[in-house]
Amino acid sequence: MNEFRADLHCHTTCSDGSLSPKEIVRLAKQIGLSGLSITDHDTIEAYKLALPEANELGIELVPGVEFSAVYEEASVHILGYAFNISDPSINHFCQRHKQRREARNHAILERLAAHGMPLTIEEVLASSSYPSCSIGRPHIALAMVKKGYIDTVQNAFKIYIADGKPCFIRGDSFSVQETLHIIHQAKGLAVFAHPHLFKDMILFNNLLKLEFDGLECYYARYLPINNKRWEKIASKKNWLMTGGSDFHGDIKPAISLGTSWVNEETFRKLKQHFDKCNI
Ligand code: AMP
Ligand code: ZN
Ligand code: FE
Ligand code: FE
Repeated sequence: MNEFRADLHCHTTCSDGSLSPKEIVRLAKQIGLSGLSITDHDTIEAYKLALPEANELGIELVPGVEFSAVYEEASVHILGYAFNISDPSINHFCQRHKQRREARNHAILERLAAHGMPLTIEEVLASSSYPSCSIGRPHIALAMVKKGYIDTVQNAFKIYIADGKPCFIRGDSFSVQETLHIIHQAKGLAVFAHPHLFKDMILFNNLLKLEFDGLECYYARYLPINNKRWEKIASKKNWLMTGGSDFHGDIKPAISLGTSWVNEETFRKLKQHFDKCNI
């Protein structure tokens, strides 16, 4: 019997991952995972697409999402877990994110055109295989590579579209507080994602005072010493200690599914929360 492992952070073609929801479940089975939560950017569509495959293969699935949010101009990613996927407010929130992304993508394309790299939205959409997915900078970067403007996705970010670069646009945004409220309204649990990426310690300490339910303590690129730091914070607050790989497939080839995970005890907490809130 394999040790129980659940990867709680990964992306599919519903946002900027390269595997479909079904394919990611198959991969999870292949590598011996027992549980999974798919956390696409700003969309919850993958869950219902992946569930039949998960049931067939005996992989336990918990609803997940990774919302982009802003706190005093700083970007924060918030993972939502075990929410009611039929909840109208979280579905409406995803629609609002879709509109936000459309306007922002348009503005980024205008910047790129002004830098001599015209791209149409159709060329960007052609970088995704799932028609209604959450389109963002990774798809734009792929289209730039395809059109021959740049050699790699990494360089497209590094030179043009990463935060603060000449073609970066933040666009409209939703606050951390509103995002926490929506996740809770949908009876979900809210987790502060990859805290190591957050560099402003004053803002970080203020963020820790908000109504999160957990901290992402385990992540593909953490050394054990980092885990201890996040575990200490989570334990003090009696928060969940979650973890996952942040697998994206081809777009971030260095990170494999299952390189970070949680044990059965943590996974059961999410599953039980989901079952309790969704009867
Ligand atoms: P967006 O949600 O449109 O702002 O795009 C953010 C996503 O782009 C992140 O979640 C990553 O998947 C990806 N990303 C951010 N920075 C980089 C980078 N330097 N290289 C490759 N991908 C990146
Ligand atoms: Zn991503
Ligand atoms: Fe993230
Ligand atoms: Fe992610």
